[in-house]
Amino acid sequence: MPDRINVRTLLEQKGQLADDVVAIKTDGKIIDLHSFVDPTTTYEVVRATDKDGIQVIRHSTAHVMADAVQKLFPGTKVTIGPAIEDGFYYDFEKAGGGSFSDDDLAKIEKTMREIVKSNTPFRKEMISRNDALALFEKMGENFKVEIIKSIPEGEEISLYRHGKHEKSQDPKNEWVDVCEGPHVPRTSNLGAVKLTSVAGAYWRGDERNPMLQRIYGTAFPTQELLDEHLKLIEEAKARDHRKLGKELDLFMFDQVAPAMPFFLPRGAHVYNALVSYMRDLYSKNGYDEVITPQAFDPKLFRTSGHLGNYNENMYRLWTEDLLEDAKATDKSGSNKSEIDFIKQLQDNSFALKPMNCPSHCVIFGARRRSYRELPWRVADFGRLHRYERGGVVHGLSRVRSFCQDDAHIFCTKEQVADEITKFLKLFYDVYKVFDLTKIDIRLATRPEKRIGSDEDWDMSERALQEGLEKAGLPFTFSPGEGAFYGPKLEFHVQDALKRSWQLGTMQYDPNLPERFDLTYVGEDGKEHRPVMLHRAVFGTLERFMSVYLEHCGGNLPAWLAPMQAIVLTVSDKSEDYGRDVLARLRAKGFRVEADFSGDKLGAKIRNARIMRHPYMLILGPKDSEAGTVSVRSRDKGELGAMPFDQFVTLLGDEGRPPS
Ligand SMILES: [Zn+2]
Ligand SMILES: [Zn+2]
Repeated sequence: MPDRINVRTLLEQKGQLADDVVAIKTDGKIIDLHSFVDPTTTYEVVRATDKDGIQVIRHSTAHVMADAVQKLFPGTKVTIGPAIEDGFYYDFEKAGGGSFSDDDLAKIEKTMREIVKSNTPFRKEMISRNDALALFEKMGENFKVEIIKSIPEGEEISLYRHGKHEKSQDPKNEWVDVCEGPHVPRTSNLGAVKLTSVAGAYWRGDERNPMLQRIYGTAFPTQELLDEHLKLIEEAKARDHRKLGKELDLFMFDQVAPAMPFFLPRGAHVYNALVSYMRDLYSKNGYDEVITPQAFDPKLFRTSGHLGNYNENMYRLWTEDLLEDAKATDKSGSNKSEIDFIKQLQDNSFALKPMNCPSHCVIFGARRRSYRELPWRVADFGRLHRYERGGVVHGLSRVRSFCQDDAHIFCTKEQVADEITKFLKLFYDVYKVFDLTKIDIRLATRPEKRIGSDEDWDMSERALQEGLEKAGLPFTFSPGEGAFYGPKLEFHVQDALKRSWQLGTMQYDPNLPERFDLTYVGEDGKEHRPVMLHRAVFGTLERFMSVYLEHCGGNLPAWLAPMQAIVLTVSDKSEDYGRDVLARLRAKGFRVEADFSGDKLGAKIRNARIMRHPYMLILGPKDSEAGTVSVRSRDKGELGAMPFDQFVTLLGDEGRPPS
C-alpha cells in the first residue's frame, strides 16, 4: 500500500488547489486539506459554496465562536459545537453562570470577525489519548475531559488549532479543540457569520446534567447568501404556527393537559376539513374506516411488543378496582411490599393506545380471512397518546395527544409493490393540493439491529424499490435507517421557506402479523401469513397543520379556511343590506362572519386582515342599490363590485374541497 499523502499536497500535485477549495469528498466522507489519504483514492473536490463546503465552513466558524467566547468570557468552559441543518451551535458553561445577552452576542460576533481577519491557518495534530487528557485536564476543560475519556484507550485523537501565524512563535492567541474535523484551511476561508440565538441545553441532552448555554449561529461563504437566509428566518418567525394559532384563534394549550392541543372552533373546522378530505379519498381508493377503543388491556401491548419497547412513551390508566386488588394481602396473609404493589398495578393498568396497529391486528384476526379479501386497507382517525418529555414539545409540531390519517394495509407479499405504487400516487396527489411539490423520497433499508432473515429483507427492500420505480419517482437510499422489523419510505417535504419536514410514512411490517399470529386462507386452501403496511399521508394532523400553516402563512384556501369571507359595512347605513347578504350567504352553506361595529372602515379592514379570510365583502350604499357586493380577494386583490350571484358562484367553486 502506498504511503498516505496530505490532501493539500495531493490537490497541489494535480493542479486542483484553489482558494475556494475546502475539502475533498471520497466514499461519502468529507476530508479536509489537513488530513491524509491514499494517493490513489478517487474523490471530488469540495468548494466553499457546495453544500458540503458550507458545512465545513459552519463547523469551522463554531470553533472561531468558541475561541471568541473564551477570549471575552474567561473561565467559560467548552463542550461541543457541531454544524447543523441551517448553521451551527456551540454549548458553553458560562463562567459565573447566567446566559449570554444580545449585547454579548454582538461582542462575540465582533471578536469572531477579528479572528477571521487575522487569517491564521487551521492546524491538525494527532496525539495520544493520554496526552489529550493531560492537556485538557490542565486547561480545566472538564467536559472535554469527559469526552476524551469516552474514547477507547490507545486510540489516537485529533486536535485542531487556529490563531497562530505560521512564523509566529507566540502561542498566546492559539485556540485548540478535540475534534474530528473537517475544517477549512485558514480562518480567512470563513465568510459571513451571524449569531442568531441563545438557548439552554443540558449537557448530553440529559436533564440531570448541568444546564449549558447553547449559542446558535449561521455562516455562509458570502454575505448575499447569508442575507437571503436571514430574510427567510424573519419570515419564518412571522409565520410561526404558534403565533398564527393565536392570531387566527385556532388552538390553545393549558397546563391541565400539557402538550395536548385544545382545538378552538376555527381550528376544529380545519382539522375536520382535513379528515373529511382524506375520508373522501379513502372511499375512492378502496379503504375501509374503523373506530377502535382508546384504552386497552395491557395484554394487547404485550402481544404487540409495545410494553417491552415503548413503555416510557405510554400513558397508563388505573381504576379503583385495580388499586384495591393490588393492595389486597397476598395468599399467606402478609402485606405486600411496595414493589410488589407497584408491579401488580403496572401489570394490570390499562394503556392509552400510542398507535392504531395493534387494534387493527385484533380486527383482522377476529375471524377467518380469505385471500380474496386482500389487500385489506383499514383506516382509523383514532386519537393517540404518546408521552414525550417536556423539553421536546413545540406547539402543534410535537404534541402528546394527536391524530394520524393512519391506515394499515394487510396484503400478500406479492401485492406489496403494487400497494406502494398506489400509495405514492395518493401521496403526491394530496401534497399537490397543498402546494407542497418538492418531495425527497428516501428508502430506509435494514438496520444493524434487526429481526428476520436476510432473504426476507432482500424481498421487502426490493418490493419497496419496485413500487417506487413503477411510480416513476426518483429516490435515494438511507442505508441502515429502516425499522428493526422492515424497510420504510421517508418523505422529506420542502416548504415555501425552503425548510424540509418529514411528513407521512410507509413502513413494511412482517412482525406484527407474526406476533398476532394472523393468517389468511390462500388460493391453495392453506393458511398463509399476511404482511402489514403502516402508512400515513399527512402523518399526524397536528404536525401537518403546523407545517401547512407556516407554508401558507396562515392564508388557508377557501375550502379549508374556517371562515371563507367577512362582510364589512362602510357605515351603519348599510347594516341592513349587510345583514341580508350575510344571511343569504349562510343559507347557501358558506362560512361567513361580519363586522357591523361602529368602528371606522379602515379599522375594520385592518382587524379582518389579521384573520386572513379569503374574501372581504365591503358593502356601501351603491351595493345596496344595485344588489352587488364589492369584493376584495386576499390572494388576487380588489375584484370590484359584482352581482351577488356571481360571488356565490366564485366562492362555490373555490370553497369545494379538491377532488
Ligand atoms: Zn472541529
Ligand atoms: Zn401502524
